[in-house]
Parts: sequence; structure tokens; C-alpha cells
Amino acid sequence: MQQLYLGGRVFTADPARPWAEALLVDDGRISTVGSVAECRAAAAAEAPEEIDVSGCVVLPGFVDGHSHLLMTGAALAKAQLRTATTLDEIRRRLVEWAEANPDSPYVLATGFLFEAVPGNEPHREMLDDLFPDRPVFVESFDLHCGWVNSAALELLEITDRTPDPVGGEIRRDPATGRATGYLLETALHDHMWAFLARVDDATRDQQLATAMRALNAAGTTTAVDMAVDDDDAGAFVRAEENGTLTLRVIGHWIIRNTGDDARNLAQVREAARRRDTHDGPMFRVAGIKLVTDGTIDACTAAMIDPYTTGTNCDPIWPPERMEPVVELADQLGLQVACHAIGDLAVRNAIDAIERAQRVNGTGDRRHRIEHLEYADPADIPRLGANGITASMQPVHCDPEIAGLWSEVLGPERAHWGFAWPEYVRTGATLAFGTDTPTAPYEPLPNMYIGATRRSPGNPDLEPLRPDFALPVDETIVHGTADAAWASFEEDRLGVLKPGACADLVVIDDDPFANGPGALLAARVRRTVVAGRTVHSNP
Ligand SMILES: [Zn+2]
Repeated sequence: MQQLYLGGRVFTADPARPWAEALLVDDGRISTVGSVAECRAAAAAEAPEEIDVSGCVVLPGFVDGHSHLLMTGAALAKAQLRTATTLDEIRRRLVEWAEANPDSPYVLATGFLFEAVPGNEPHREMLDDLFPDRPVFVESFDLHCGWVNSAALELLEITDRTPDPVGGEIRRDPATGRATGYLLETALHDHMWAFLARVDDATRDQQLATAMRALNAAGTTTAVDMAVDDDDAGAFVRAEENGTLTLRVIGHWIIRNTGDDARNLAQVREAARRRDTHDGPMFRVAGIKLVTDGTIDACTAAMIDPYTTGTNCDPIWPPERMEPVVELADQLGLQVACHAIGDLAVRNAIDAIERAQRVNGTGDRRHRIEHLEYADPADIPRLGANGITASMQPVHCDPEIAGLWSEVLGPERAHWGFAWPEYVRTGATLAFGTDTPTAPYEPLPNMYIGATRRSPGNPDLEPLRPDFALPVDETIVHGTADAAWASFEEDRLGVLKPGACADLVVIDDDPFANGPGALLAARVRRTVVAGRTVHSNP
């Protein structure tokens, strides 16, 4: 069956032909891009189904360059704290959620802002009076820290003598040595998440379905999942086999620093085995992911110079542990993605990739660095020089959440935060994503931040470096064609050209003609994956 999209404007993200009048889709692929007459002439003798998109713009489906799908599905069911700016408001929402979910043995919440709690540091005592017996599990907005009450500490069997895991901290009261309920980095992973991850496959399938529905409705057709493990892969495979996977998933296998090279390298070999096993058109494994540091808000990102608070943090992956892992992955043809937010972590990641490519005589793997919130300006050109993709998330520089971020970096470093045009100017591919659920998953507000540096929720707030805003068309290319290129998908995804997959989104306002504000006003009218409508809102 063929479909002819006509009546609106088509932005292709293809530099050879950025604009067109119509699109002909044949069996899930784009067969013709051009004028209505050209598409009609190319159609088969039987008339194609006509899809009228008058008053709308057709874009390539968005490719979310960095996401966490099952966590997104799980997060959508929890109390949402991202817009709670005071402890009172956080407490009110926890009580409300607890009352609305009487059957849940726990109180679950996500998205708390450090600025919303006294001293920017959560404590079990802020929750214990409300919930003396029911365990409470709260995640920070950046998903790098956990906050639990005393009942949850007990359930997790965290005692005052439980050792800190490698790359994390169970915060203790300096006077008494008692755990405060604040879990940083791997302490969140190893204790809170490991506990909450004990769900069955049916729950995981539900989480994936929830995430797919949400992302499809927002216009996303492909998501690069940046922390795939056995549980995630199982859910993707089941959905693929059932034909219910309505979002293309490109996975990066998560490698955890065990502190032991042999065990770390075994994880890389497992990732290569997964790459060979999972290689379908809807789900495949592309490479590995290393979380090499934390975040700036929690002062756990590894910096060359300390934070304005006087503290600093060691990287989760020190260079001597990271080097063999990156070298083996590069040798096995896996794409390496390094989460690196602080300038020291960024420098270490570039060093490790540069070294691996030199040792192996490679350079065409399209390795990537995730986040790059603050890189030393001297290191920025090294990404382009080494063929490293800058994978960045405009939503992370939303002025609404940038207060503490700027404060702990200080004005000089904050001035060079999220320096998108500098990466492009010095030759790196810039791939945009959202890092959902650490930030909202909708691509259109994400593109708005890319094109304005302003807050979608509060456009009057002072933007951080408005001169780093990008033109609307370039912003959309970073969120479609470039994010696809970063995963070796430039012929298939993120672009509307003959032979590419018919993955597209129809929006009812025109940000190219009407300016970036249209990215906030626009509604997604239709989302199409492989020629099939997966969301429609006529
Ligand atoms: Zn992430």
C-alpha cells in the first residue's frame, strides 16, 4: 500500500533537498520526495491513499539521541517532583501520591530538585514524620541521587557500617556516622535501583509500553537507549517479537566499573555478543555506555578545578580502568558512549578514545561523549579532531533548572556551559536528545530550548548564553539527521529521502516560518513509524 502526503510543507533534513511539497511512501519506505505531480507520477497504477496535511509541516521523526526507556515508563507512574520548588510542596505531593496509590507498598517519586530542599541536600528526617513505616524512594531530577526515609533504609538493609560502593556514597551524618538517606551515584544504583528493579517481566513490558506511547505521541520515532542491560533487552525483544515495538530502539550496553579489569572486559565482550544477537530493524545494540562521572548539581561531576563550594569529586571511571575497556570496545567495532559532564571527565574520555583509536589504528567508529555540560574550551576542538560525536541535551540547560548548576560552577565556567555552536564550529557532529526521564521527553520543547536557550515553562527567565542558540532548521537537524548519523543510521533514519524509512511526524504549526515559539504552540497531529501511524490526533 502506498501513501501520498500532500497539502503541507515537508522539511526533509536532507541537505540535497531540504524542502518538498509531497512525499510518497511505499511499503514502509519513502519512495519519492518532490512535487505533488512528481509523487503522483511515481505512484503505482492503483491510486495511493492520500493523507492531507494542509496547514501542517512534515518533519523526519525525531531521534532521541539519549534516553532510558524502561525508566521513563516507570517514572511516569511515580509522583512528579520536578516542578516542586519547596520542601513543603514535595511533601504535599508525596502524601497525595501515597493516598492515590494505597496498594503500593512504597511511596515512589521522581525529579526532586536539590534547590527545593534545605541546604541543597535531602535527609531522611524530612520524610520520616510523614511516613514512619511506609518506605519512601525518591530520585533526583538528574537521576544521579536517591533520597529515602528511615523505613526504606531498613528495607534496603543499609546500616551505618554498609561500605560505600565504588563510585558512590552513602551519605552519613559527620557527627553520628548514621546514614542520612541520601544516596549518591552508584549507591543509588546498587542499593535503591537494584531493589526497585526486582519487578517481573510483565511490569517491564508495561513500562516499555507506557514509554513508547508517550514518546510516539510527542513525535519521537527512534530512541537511543543509553543503559541497556539484560532486563531492558528482554523487554525490547518481547515487544519486537509481538510486533508491538512502535519505537525504534538503538541500545548501548551499560558497562559498570567493578574495579577489576578482567570483569570489566568481560562485560565488553558480552556487549559485542549482544550486538551480534540483537540486530533487527526495530531493536539493535550498537555499543557500550560508561558513566564516567556524576552531575554538576550534586557536585559529583569530575572537575579539573573544584566547585565554588570548595569540593570536587573523583571520576567513577579513572583513566587506568577506562583505557582497557575503551580500547577493547573500539577493537571489537562497538561504539563507545561516555557519560562525561565535568571538564576532567570529558578530558579523560577524549584521551581514552584518542588512545584507543591510535593503538587500534581506527578512527571511524563514531564514538560519542554524552552530556558535555562543561568542557574546558581547549578540549572542545578535540571532539571533531577525533571523530567524536557531541551528544547533548538542550533540556538540561533549561533556565528553570540552571540556578544551582551556575552557582556551583561559578560565572566563568557557566559562561562556557552547553557550548553547542563551538562543537559544530570545530567539526564535531552534534546529536540532540533528552535523557528522559532525567528531563522531559518531548522533542518539540527540547528543540525550542535549542533554538532559544529559553525555558519552555517560563520563557521570560534569563537564558544562559543566548548567543549559543541555534537556528530552528539546524536545531531540528541535530535532533533528527545528526542524531541518526551518530548511530550510523543516516541512510535510514532522521531524514526524508528516497530509500529511507517512512518515519515521520506531522506538526500543526510552522517554526521555520513563524519562529521558535511555534515549537511550543505546535501539536503533534500524526506520528508514523515504518509507514504505519503510531499516533494520531486529527
Ligand atoms: Zn542518561
